[in-house]
Amino acid sequence: MDCLFCKIIAGEIPCTKVYEDDGVFAFRDINPQAPVHVLLVPKKHMRNILECDGETAAALTKAIGEVAKLEGVKEDGFRIVSNCGKHGCQSVEHLHIHLLGGKQLSEKMD
Ligand code: AMP
Repeated sequence: MDCLFCKIIAGEIPCTKVYEDDGVFAFRDINPQAPVHVLLVPKKHMRNILECDGETAAALTKAIGEVAKLEGVKEDGFRIVSNCGKHGCQSVEHLHIHLLGGKQLSEKMD
């Protein structure tokens, strides 16, 4: 499958890995929008949040906590975002959660 994030998970394209477990892979966004900007992706390919099953949702939720701890943003807080489809400006069609933090984020969401 010609999927950028599947290739990153497989080690075919380099990345800066932050965290990995059985179901989830997390790495630094190449174009960070905040001091901490990590992408969490399920190892199983799915296009977006609409295709996410319960097991994967649970794995992602656990991984968010682990990454927040590793990145030192648990105390002050962070934001998670998952863009979906055209209006959501999703540019990579493999479900991913952006985890942003390390500074005071804007109240604006769009
Ligand atoms: P989205 O626009 O929500 O689909 O997010 C895709 C994200 O992937 C963007 O924030 C990009 O900066 C990021 N991205 C694209 N290519 C790479 C790459 N090779 N390594 C890390 N992040 C990437």
